[in-house]
Amino acid sequence: MKIAVIGTGYVGLVTGASLAHLGHQVVCIDVDKDKIMLLQSGGMPIWEPGLEDMIRDAELKGMLDYSTDASAAVSGSDAVFLTIGTPSSESGEADLSALWSAVHSIAPMLPDNGLLIIKSTVPSGTCEQIESYLRKRLPFSSRIAVAHNPEFLRQGSAVRDFLAPDRLVFGASSPEAYNRLEEIYAPIKSPKIRCGLSEAELIKCASNAFLAMKISYANMMSDLCDALGVSIDAVVEGMGLDRRIGSEFLSAGAGYGGSCFPKDLHALIALASREHLDMELLKATESINRQRIQIIIQKLETALGSLEDKTVTVYGLTFKPNTDDIRESPALRICSMLQEVGARIMVYDPVVTCLPELQVDLTVDMYAAATGSDCVVIVTDWDQFRHLDWGRLRQVMRSSYVLDARNMLDTAEMAVNCERYGLHYMSMGRPSIT
Ligand code: NAD
Repeated sequence: MKIAVIGTGYVGLVTGASLAHLGHQVVCIDVDKDKIMLLQSGGMPIWEPGLEDMIRDAELKGMLDYSTDASAAVSGSDAVFLTIGTPSSESGEADLSALWSAVHSIAPMLPDNGLLIIKSTVPSGTCEQIESYLRKRLPFSSRIAVAHNPEFLRQGSAVRDFLAPDRLVFGASSPEAYNRLEEIYAPIKSPKIRCGLSEAELIKCASNAFLAMKISYANMMSDLCDALGVSIDAVVEGMGLDRRIGSEFLSAGAGYGGSCFPKDLHALIALASREHLDMELLKATESINRQRIQIIIQKLETALGSLEDKTVTVYGLTFKPNTDDIRESPALRICSMLQEVGARIMVYDPVVTCLPELQVDLTVDMYAAATGSDCVVIVTDWDQFRHLDWGRLRQVMRSSYVLDARNMLDTAEMAVNCERYGLHYMSMGRPSIT
């Protein structure tokens, strides 16, 4: 099929490359000229494992192209995906302005029996509004259909998640739209759910809110573990083995971030509030998540005393490992809170090596970042932090504290390292080791 993907961000580029990989002829479109020029000249605007290889392969086969001009690709398409950002607005509701602007501009270009597939995460009711806008705007004879096919990929494993999802959700209001979606995704054998547009929208937001709630639940329990002096590790392992609960997203740490969970929760709370519903569980989820930063600072103050003029090394800036995305990253909030209390900050991240807007020293070497430091705080669980040379780290540090804010290190191994190198190891909801 001929497919146009409008919005070539994290989701759009993965969608475009994956659909080309599945055998479709794809054009990725974006208003960002620099991004399109970079892609056209063989560069990569984002860092995502496996994506570049798939893109090069699709380009070689002539299945993937890029453009800033939507007209040719849209008018000759069998389907158009909209993968445009829907960030939070001031009020907490999703800001749909970029999405609507794209709908307005492509409406006249859509072919008569075209299918417009909204992949962006949108509040319940949005796709019906888009469908009714198109009905009014386009000639009576037009058979354009609107579908919602929310995306569940996780940055860091986006290609795998796209090609082998747990489920595909097809929200639509006509059999033709369902059938076209089935055709597009025919090579993917995951369960496919057919539902209405609004149900599909709610499946996405409700899923993200549930996962965020699971993380906050583990964090709430980790606070109790800290107070009782017991280990959260055994608690979440014992809970997670219950198949009704499951172990994923049940880890204590620095809390969730990224461009999806925080804004999708806000949007769901705002949507419910318009219906005079108070989503108490989701508000508590947000509040527990916000408290993580304060709890991390408190742990540092308990260990080091006042943080004024202390040097703190932050390991990891991205909101999770295996991505270059720092949107709503807990690490950024930790850095700004450390700055507020007068600490000097050194930062190391394996992928983010330059961030002018953050007034901190970023270095490209883990040990250089820890030189003269009073405490190393692991905020993002990049795999390479599992293989630190603890002897070398202790040698370059001024003091001996390590705060593992992701509980990524094994406590038995850290007990040996603490004994051997004189380190003080702290984590979230697990007894400290000295
Ligand atoms: P993004 O910010 O990385 O990309 C959005 C792209 O759209 C940008 O490149 C921007 O330049 C482009 N754009 C904006 N207006 C445009 C227009 N009128 N025409 C063409 N291009 C335009 O966003 P993202 O992270 O890819 O997210 C996109 C949507 O997918 C959001 O609704 C998000 O909630 C949802 N989503 C994201 C993820 C994720 O992990 N990032 C996962 C699932 C769903």
